[in-house]
This record gives sequence, C-alpha cells and structure tokens, in this order.
Amino acid sequence: MGTDGPSKFLQKRAASKRKMKTLAKVSAADWREGFLFVGNHLALDFINTRPEIDGKPNELLTNWSSLIRWFRASKLIDARDGVSFECSWAESKEAQKTLRAMWTFRENLRKDLLAWEGDGRIRSETLRELNALMSEHPMLKKITSEGARFITVQWFPLQQPSNLFAPLALAAANLFSELDPKRVRKCEHCVLHFHDTSKIGTRRWCSMRLCGNRVKVAAYAARHSSDQHRTDSPRLSPAKWPP
Ligand SMILES: [Zn+2]
Repeated sequence: MGTDGPSKFLQKRAASKRKMKTLAKVSAADWREGFLFVGNHLALDFINTRPEIDGKPNELLTNWSSLIRWFRASKLIDARDGVSFECSWAESKEAQKTLRAMWTFRENLRKDLLAWEGDGRIRSETLRELNALMSEHPMLKKITSEGARFITVQWFPLQQPSNLFAPLALAAANLFSELDPKRVRKCEHCVLHFHDTSKIGTRRWCSMRLCGNRVKVAAYAARHSSDQHRTDSPRLSPAKWPP
C-alpha cells in the first residue's frame, strides 16, 4: 500500500476498477446475428464459427437453422430465400448430412489453414478435395442491371442443402491462392483467424474489442497487482460472448 492512507488507496483501487471495466467492454461490432465476423475473409469467418468461449470450443453452427442464419449473416443468401430454403429442408436427412459435412469441411480447413499459415504449403489432397467440391458445386455467374448499367454477379442455386458448399469451396480456394500466408494468422489469444489488412501488418488479435482488450486488461492487472495486496487485486471479468 506504500505511504498512502486508506482513503487514497481505496480511491486508487476504484480508479483501477473503472479503467479495467472500460477496457473489458465488448462491442457488438464484431458480431452479426450471433456470429463473429472478424476474419476479413469469407473462408476465415466460416472457420471462426467454432470459437472458444471460456476456454472451451463452442459450436455456433449447432443445427440447420443456425447454418442458414450464418449464410444470411454472411450475405450469401437473402432473408426471403433463406427462410423458404430453411423451411423446405428443415428436419430432413439431407440438411443434417450437409451440416455434418460442413463441420468436417471446416475442421479439415482449419488444419490446412494452420499449416499454410506456417509454411505456405497446402496438401495435394486438400487441392483435390477443393477442386472436387468446386466441380460438384460451382459458383455461377449472371448478368443483371444496376441502375443504368449492367453487371455480372456470382450466384449459386438453392435447390438442395449441399448447394451451400458452392461459395465456401470457392472462398477456401481463393484464400489459399490469392492471400499472402504471412498476412493470415491465428489470434495470439484465441482460436480465431484473420486476414491482416492493416498497412503495417502487425495485427495480433482477432479483435481489439475481444482479445486485444483482454490482453491489455490482464497486463494491466499484472502490473498493478504488485502495488497492492494480492487479495485486493481487481479480477478480470470474463468478456461477454456474444454481447
Ligand atoms: Zn482472439
């Protein structure tokens, strides 16, 4: 406590708590419809649908309905199409099969991503699988009007659940072929991955609001714990996931 009297000590401690509360505040900006969008890339946002919450893997794509919600939140399907597609296949074996296949695809992709982030290489088996998926579920193009001009846009049919692989397979292929592996990395504090699009290229956390502040708060607490009685040290409140 040093030479400060009890009231000064209490004031300092209250100020510490206020500062930590501010640092630990989590913004809703990283979340959309209950999913995280911090990857700066569709394939990374898909991989990030299984974050760790309180140190445990937490599946956000828990069922067919949440899978469709993620596609809506990712702006891959619009709300009206999403509702009718979800209802048409709800409780179907095909929807369950696609959901399980999505989990497997995502976890395989996670392993490939970690390896690629390390040495820039991809297994030939992965290339074959991605090519097979893109061949079976290709993204299509169509011409449409935009004001007074015409543009071509990508689309995929929503005829059966497995069609949902179309944008994901292409996104994964684009990730490995178009991005610099040195600019794609896992958060230092959690399992989320991101594409570092900053000018300086030194982003370390999935999000300043999620992990950056946690690390800062922990460092702040560690620095100040030596100044105070250990039992008086403010505790780091777990950030609210999702907000
Ligand atoms: Zn993180």
